[in-house]
Amino acid sequence: MQKLLFTPGPLSTSKTVKEAMLEDMGSRDHAFLLAVKDIRNGLLKLAGVSKEEGYECVIMQGSGTFGVESVVGSVVGTNDTLAILVNGAYGERIVKMAKINRINHVVLRFEEDEIVTPEATEKLLNEHPEVTHVACIHSETTTGLFNPVEAIGAVCKAHNKSFIVDAMSSFGGVEMDIKQMHIDFLVSSSNKCIEGIPGFSFALCKRTELEKAKGQGRSLSLDLYDQWNGLESNGQFRFTPPTLSIMAFRQAMKELEEEGGVKAREERYKTNKKILDEGMAALGFKQYLRPQIQGHIITSFLYPTDIPFNFEDFYNQLNDRGYVIYPGKLSKADAFRIGNIGQIFPEDIKGLVAAVKEVLQ
Ligand SMILES: *Cc1c(COP(=O)(O)O)cnc(C)c1O
Repeated sequence: MQKLLFTPGPLSTSKTVKEAMLEDMGSRDHAFLLAVKDIRNGLLKLAGVSKEEGYECVIMQGSGTFGVESVVGSVVGTNDTLAILVNGAYGERIVKMAKINRINHVVLRFEEDEIVTPEATEKLLNEHPEVTHVACIHSETTTGLFNPVEAIGAVCKAHNKSFIVDAMSSFGGVEMDIKQMHIDFLVSSSNKCIEGIPGFSFALCKRTELEKAKGQGRSLSLDLYDQWNGLESNGQFRFTPPTLSIMAFRQAMKELEEEGGVKAREERYKTNKKILDEGMAALGFKQYLRPQIQGHIITSFLYPTDIPFNFEDFYNQLNDRGYVIYPGKLSKADAFRIGNIGQIFPEDIKGLVAAVKEVLQ
């Protein structure tokens, strides 16, 4: 049985994406180098920018976290200070990175059911003139909320701060123009909304900001500048590349285009979300977030309180029926999560809701 993943990565991929991995590929193979080039240019295009406009795409081996750590650990220098805007586990992860990498940092925390506000960001920047960089999560996968990155970006721009955005679970599933959003570094990975398989992350960078990272990386393998330099000089990775994941990703980008681009994919995810909301509400499930701040990527549902409910049982029984959901990660409430990204279509959501009903009964 082919299970469907209602998780925010890894997620369900198409057969043709998986088939793109069937041929062994050397890291110097012409076809591979061409795929890397296509992907780097194509990702910039998805973000509304290009090399000519002063942006660069750096691919980094590893999962999404490796990409975020590569950016944070390379671009924030010894004498710089990073402001981290936190309202969930992924923001906390950047705080952890700052500590381990011994980066000067200040943290602005919000409740997990509140968005980061541009007003509070502005106040923080006024109180901390030493801040040089600001980091924020776009789609906080912990809960499913969307932070207003464009408004926060405008504050960063007005205060002349470099802006780093973890758009891991939203890029490719939400239309974004990184120039308009004043984003200097956007990070996402191969197995989120572009619907590739795991293996690498990528950073879309404003070149003038990326150039400042020269010689200040805190790790050999995660040095963003050196990785860029390697890719630029001979088109190759410094260390063994995720060859087949790259080939699958290029196919995934083709399929994104065939679907109608980011706009069409966003519409599919929103349709999935609407069917999920209605179906789960009809079964009596309440959501953790208020709808105004809820994004269309993943939803947190509170454990029901009016019936006996054991998440492990619930999870296992859905899993036996071919539907894989995701546990919660909230610090103050019991919830589980259902993502509607990946190769998931309205019929699949209907199938999931029917399976949830059956399991509850
Ligand atoms: C998935 C995700 C990451 C990266 O997680 P990995 O497990 O390292 O791929 C980072 N930030 C957000 C918001 C995510 O959704």
